[in-house]
Amino acid sequence: MLLLDPRRPDLPLDPFSTGILRDTVAFFEAKGKKKLKEDDRDRVWYRDFLEFQKEKKIFSTLLTPSAWGGEGARWDTFRNCAFNEVLGFYGLPYWYTWQVTILGLGPFWMSRNETLKRRTAALLAEGGIFGFGLSEKAHGADLYSTEMRLAKSPGGGYTASGRKYYIGNGNEAALLSVFGKMAEGDDWVFFAADPRHPKYQLIQNVCTSQSYVAEFALNDYPVADEEILLRGPEAWDASLNTVNVGKYNLGWASIGIATHAFYEAIRHASRRRLYGMSVTDFPHVSRMFTDAWTRLVAMRLFALRAADYFRSATREDRRYLLYNPVVKMKVTTEGERVIDLLWDVIAAKGFEKETVFEMATRDIRALPKLEGTVHVNIALILKFLPNVLLTPSACPEVPRRTDPADDVFLFDQGPARGLSKIRFHDLRKAYGEFDLPNVALFREQIAALQSFLSRQRVTEAQQKDLDLVLTLGELFTLVVYGQLILENAALLGVAPDVVDQIFDVFVRDFSRFAVELHGRAGATTEQAAACLSLVRRPAPDGGRAAAIFAREILPLADAYEMSP
Ligand SMILES: Cc1cc2nc3c(=O)[nH]c(=O)nc-3n(C[C@H](O)[C@H](O)[C@H](O)COP(=O)(O)OP(=O)(O)OC[C@H]3O[C@@H](n4cnc5c(N)ncnc54)[C@H](O)[C@@H]3O)c2cc1C
Repeated sequence: MLLLDPRRPDLPLDPFSTGILRDTVAFFEAKGKKKLKEDDRDRVWYRDFLEFQKEKKIFSTLLTPSAWGGEGARWDTFRNCAFNEVLGFYGLPYWYTWQVTILGLGPFWMSRNETLKRRTAALLAEGGIFGFGLSEKAHGADLYSTEMRLAKSPGGGYTASGRKYYIGNGNEAALLSVFGKMAEGDDWVFFAADPRHPKYQLIQNVCTSQSYVAEFALNDYPVADEEILLRGPEAWDASLNTVNVGKYNLGWASIGIATHAFYEAIRHASRRRLYGMSVTDFPHVSRMFTDAWTRLVAMRLFALRAADYFRSATREDRRYLLYNPVVKMKVTTEGERVIDLLWDVIAAKGFEKETVFEMATRDIRALPKLEGTVHVNIALILKFLPNVLLTPSACPEVPRRTDPADDVFLFDQGPARGLSKIRFHDLRKAYGEFDLPNVALFREQIAALQSFLSRQRVTEAQQKDLDLVLTLGELFTLVVYGQLILENAALLGVAPDVVDQIFDVFVRDFSRFAVELHGRAGATTEQAAACLSLVRRPAPDGGRAAAIFAREILPLADAYEMSP
């Protein structure tokens, strides 16, 4: 259960769903690495993949809730994790068309418009893809400034006018969910738009990748009453609730990309001989591979555990609103660190045109920046700090969720407010279950952070200094990250030396963020001095890293290579 090998998918799915995964892997392996790379270089629209998913009804099966779908259809986050990971593994563009279909579908499945839901299910069954028209050129994260307007038509219905920017699948989507405001009354609104309509003007692909990231304009585009999906606060909530679903997937794209890059890197390094020895024999190289592998395993453990909370969520238990942004910002930035470590090892090889690695060096950078930047997500994560670190509560235990359930709550998340009321379970439980040297050190660091927060009052003025609080947010995020990783390590029976190795990395990372906070201009002299109480050195290794390298990591050099 540590890393994906696409030829031996490890996540426990029912036979039908395993079949979908195997078919998808077979599609990419038959396409082969050479063609995959050529299509990437030549920016070929991935019609082959879309035809394949249409023929196998893959998006329709995985993305239609059971109430609307055919055989095997349900929105099952666990199964979708596995599919996300495989698509990320073979290339970000393939993942992206699926991801923006997910986003586009959000407002449809959240709507009460039964006619449009039936039409959506039918379009998916015909192989249709979808898109999410939220962003605009001038406003980025600031949705309040949305300019798309819907005006009442004298003859009934409405006309929409405005532009959208960065809209995936905007060239070929069967339908787009578009966010805007009513011209009269300023109510928020989501409506359906069809890119084939003459009043839909496709302006350009904003990006230079295989994906189509559209700028489009609606010029007095007619919208019938039946094409309105959501209005008022419900439309506003749907924009945020859809992103809650989508942002979770970004972590899986990073995991998939980094896993494929890892296989290529270790295969190359282990076969490359310099000065009569293998590159993997250099101590700094084995250390870098061990750090990269450890970070990657941690990314996967966290993302899987976060899915348990997402799947078990109710309107009363919304802990996922912390864990999903952590997947979004932490897992994706960790993906960048994995690629950086591997690239330092394989150096020139990482530029070569026939490697998947070369795509990974570019694509891994995208995930932290989409659907809210790292900063936006840390700012969100920080809202939960008091209830996690200082005032935990009794909350229901969440089991591992691999069952084939339809996650209907995702489309019934309710009002997107009241974050300060969300309660969290006591993190001492997870941290107390592991008697390991680096977990013990990390516990000391958490206690030091709690003491820092209660003694070093962060003033109101300092709370507005994002440069300062974002670093605090990194420290807090690491605590939450470690907690869910320990929960999952216990559930999955991860070897203790691997867990200790993960916390060897975290002890160092925590110290690094503490030193960053120490240096922030906005910290007082007293606060800066107190930051140093958070710094620890990892426990003596005693041969642990070398044992893990030999047992878990070096064998990956021969485990997987993509078909040529
Ligand atoms: C390839 C690609 C595909 C995309 N696909 C889609 C799509 O299909 N549909 C769609 O609707 N959008 C899509 N987007 C848009 C994307 O999600 C937005 O670009 C993203 O949300 C961030 O907006 P921005 O990059 O314009 O950053 P800006 O909003 O300009 O933010 C810039 C900086 O301001 C700061 N900042 C802003 N707000 C806050 C805050 N609240 N707290 C703290 N700091 C803050 C941060 O430092 C941030 O990095 C896509 C973008 C790209 C590049």
